[in-house]
Amino acid sequence: MSSSSALPSNILSIRGSHAAIHTFIGGADSAFVNSHVIETDQRLIVVDCQYLRPQAKQFAQFVRSLEKPIEKVIITHAHPDHYFGLEQYGSAKAFASASTRKAIKEFGEATIEAQKEFLGNQIPDAPTLVDNIQKPGVEKYDGVKIRFEEFQGVEAESIMTIRIPVLNTMICADLLYNQTHLYLAHGHFDGWRNAVQKLTSYDGMNHFICGHGDHAERTIIPEMVNYLDQAEQIFQTAESPEAMKVALIEAFPDYQGQQLLDAGLPKLFESRRATR
Ligand SMILES: [Zn+2]
Repeated sequence: MSSSSALPSNILSIRGSHAAIHTFIGGADSAFVNSHVIETDQRLIVVDCQYLRPQAKQFAQFVRSLEKPIEKVIITHAHPDHYFGLEQYGSAKAFASASTRKAIKEFGEATIEAQKEFLGNQIPDAPTLVDNIQKPGVEKYDGVKIRFEEFQGVEAESIMTIRIPVLNTMICADLLYNQTHLYLAHGHFDGWRNAVQKLTSYDGMNHFICGHGDHAERTIIPEMVNYLDQAEQIFQTAESPEAMKVALIEAFPDYQGQQLLDAGLPKLFESRRATR
């Protein structure tokens, strides 16, 4: 395979003169989860690794087709649709925030165990652990500035975002979903909403790359806030996860990824029982 071969149709690229971001769009099976590779003149930074093995392998194959060394693999947060595919990267160095690294170590095995019965060989037998801590701040690769930032108490306990100013682009991971139902298991409505609103102040960012669903523009910010507002209101009165799912589908009939409601809402309601 040569690097000049045509891009697969599920790769979306944003290109500049010395940097590019290629996003692999996961399909319906994997809740439309995205993974990315940042390409500079001499190297690659992989960001998230897909969920199910078929897509994880396809994405890793695309990364290899770029024919540049992998500087690091970043895991943005400790949800399986972002880190299960890490097993595809052999000796490459994996990085995550201290909190994400710890959560994968603590809960990775149990997460696999709970899903093995349904997904069998489509998921790993054991989690690939993240060895290195990614600190927030600016790093420079081949002259390209990359800014890492950590948000806590949002869609997950910790989410790392990555800004590439030269491309006017921010990889927002699961801070943002586009036309896709949210995974609400953690119930941090306030924290998540505040983080999304903070993005308004990031001047010069035109492309907001979402964790699930298509790339977005600035209009994604009010859309996300609206979904979080409505979901929080529904949660205050809904009797059950099933009732909340029906209400959210009614409120957002065109949204994809209903399986994210099936996965997240029972956990959200467990937290309500625990705090009452
Ligand atoms: Zn996700």
